[in-house]
Amino acid sequence: MNLVDSHCHLDDRQFDADRDEVIARARAAGVERMMAIGTGGGPPDLEAGLRLARRYSFIYATVGVHPHDAVKATPETFAAMETLAADAQVLAIGEIGLDYHYDFSPRDVQREVFVTQLRLAERAGKPIVIHTREAWDDTLSLLREHWPGGGIMHCFSGGPAEARQALDLGFYLSFGGVLTFPKAELLREAARLTPEDRLLVETDAPYLAPVPRRGKRNEPAFVVETVRRLAEVRGMAPEDIADVTTRNFERLMLNC
Ligand SMILES: [Zn+2]
Ligand SMILES: [Zn+2]
Repeated sequence: MNLVDSHCHLDDRQFDADRDEVIARARAAGVERMMAIGTGGGPPDLEAGLRLARRYSFIYATVGVHPHDAVKATPETFAAMETLAADAQVLAIGEIGLDYHYDFSPRDVQREVFVTQLRLAERAGKPIVIHTREAWDDTLSLLREHWPGGGIMHCFSGGPAEARQALDLGFYLSFGGVLTFPKAELLREAARLTPEDRLLVETDAPYLAPVPRRGKRNEPAFVVETVRRLAEVRGMAPEDIADVTTRNFERLMLNC
């Protein structure tokens, strides 16, 4: 299999003791490329993903301010981000969006920082990676108002109705470990109706490990479990899911 993990946090301190081994295991499992999300611990540091992309030719980066960290963003943050967004190893702006579950930053600040980054992404000509939790309606209305279309709904966890809305806005739906959870029947229904050319897979490592590793530290190699489940759900071969999701990633992120 030739797979892409379209979303992982390889900078996380949970990987400090064995990061190189984790990356080697991913490659041995067929995960040939990984997108290192660059949000890290939040501003002023924006280079958590880039530091890895500079070390490994098969790792790409994003830059962005996670909604959790919105309150830490300053004008200097966005100026620095604008410069980094021009870097060839930075494929997208993300993960950006709204998180009303934790409310680590006030909601009005989250919305403002989200919109600022949508404008920045548009100027940079880069796709976006969306994080949205318990904030679906606000996320969609801001996208409709401020975003010309396209990007990734990361760790998509809605049902068929939300899937259709996101697809209508031109988004790719990225499925992670939650797809393997016993109760995720509506999510699997969404995965069934997603057109083949809009499917992506991810781990969101170190979070949200798929069954049978649920509750443990997640790592990019485990994306294979999600691919197997997605293949079952769609009545496809795992190899075909791998091909399709890899091609989709290349089309969206590498313009090929
Ligand atoms: Zn997220
Ligand atoms: Zn993430």
